[in-house]
Amino acid sequence: MRINFSQKTKSIVAGRSGYLCSYPGCPTPLTIGPAREDDGVSKTGEVAHIYSAAKEGPRGQGNLTKAQLKSVENAIWLCAYHATLVDTNRGTYYPPAVLVSYKGLHEASIARKHRGIYAPLGWLHELRITGGSLFKTPAKIRFGQVSFLAGGNESGRSSLCEWLTAISDPTWGLRRWRNRYGDDQPLCFEVTLFNPAKITVGVQVLESAKIRFHLNGQEVPFNPISTRFFTITEVNKGRVADHEKEAWNTWSDLQRISSAIHIDATALENILPDVGNVERSVQKIWIEEPQQVSSEMSDGDISRSQLMVKLKHQGFSLHFSQLSSSEQALVLIEIGIALASFSANYVPTVLVLDGFSVFDDRRRAEWVDYFSSANHLFQTIIEVVSEGGKLDLHLRPSWQAVSLVGSHRFVEIHQFGETE
Ligand SMILES: [Zn+2]
Repeated sequence: MRINFSQKTKSIVAGRSGYLCSYPGCPTPLTIGPAREDDGVSKTGEVAHIYSAAKEGPRGQGNLTKAQLKSVENAIWLCAYHATLVDTNRGTYYPPAVLVSYKGLHEASIARKHRGIYAPLGWLHELRITGGSLFKTPAKIRFGQVSFLAGGNESGRSSLCEWLTAISDPTWGLRRWRNRYGDDQPLCFEVTLFNPAKITVGVQVLESAKIRFHLNGQEVPFNPISTRFFTITEVNKGRVADHEKEAWNTWSDLQRISSAIHIDATALENILPDVGNVERSVQKIWIEEPQQVSSEMSDGDISRSQLMVKLKHQGFSLHFSQLSSSEQALVLIEIGIALASFSANYVPTVLVLDGFSVFDDRRRAEWVDYFSSANHLFQTIIEVVSEGGKLDLHLRPSWQAVSLVGSHRFVEIHQFGETE
């Protein structure tokens, strides 16, 4: 039994794509225009299934429900030629994750044009690991609008995100991965991006601790393709570098956050007015300068400016450091959203949320829906702490998830919904 799209779904999908074929670089993308007769419209595009209409169809049906198979999320608008192409060879060359990337990239491009934003467009598509001492290689991860990385504490979740950031910021992203003498397999990986052409950035850490970059196979001095990563983590002393641990005690909250999420303190301070505009938990966040420094009080706390937060459900303001750790997490996530929302107007942007327990509880679905919204021009990667890489979540067609199973050297990467 085939599960077909309704007329309404078809017209929504066509409209969201601007009636342009979603296949990157399609030479004849326009699928609507005047017909031969004076008063007619000619439509040549097709709504294709990402997961198949029939069980035995190309790409299969994953574990999707009937409602999901019929949904706008499971549909991609293509010209007639590309609608046929993606289904040839049972869709082998175009697995669901690839079509999800094409659709995400295309809709992001249309959303930008529609809003009058003409900025470089990009999409993080795939990470391929070919060497290194952490994972069973080769291994690959595909990314969607929202991607989950589920794994235990020794499973290399954070390492994966560091490597991604290394394509733009190798000094930071590879700080733990250089000078690892004795590794019999130096780190080597590739990141595939669409901008909108497909680009592969290769990163190789040599035994001499030098780093080599490749762009589509050619050696280059550095990666010139810009993608901005914001990695938001809990703010605690355990996460700062050893040489900063002593200074930590004297830092203000702003300095601590700035260090933990690796954002310039001025940029962080200047984004705060935007944080309260996000329609979630934080009503307002601001910096209160110290009123006066009394000589009777011990220095330290008093001379520092305070980061003040007013949460919607509380109605009164507190110092950031007085919030519970889950409240702090909400504040940090909203700071991340504000940073990524702004950045995505100008450069391709990925928000990485590392190990927050709010994604373990019942509010997770609500949050993730929020990140899936097309209002967001950035992609989100959510790291979920989970022993054995189990993910208690009903995945939607446009989400990607991988589980990381095992520990050091033997970690296996499994992409949900893919059998290869
Ligand atoms: Zn096409």
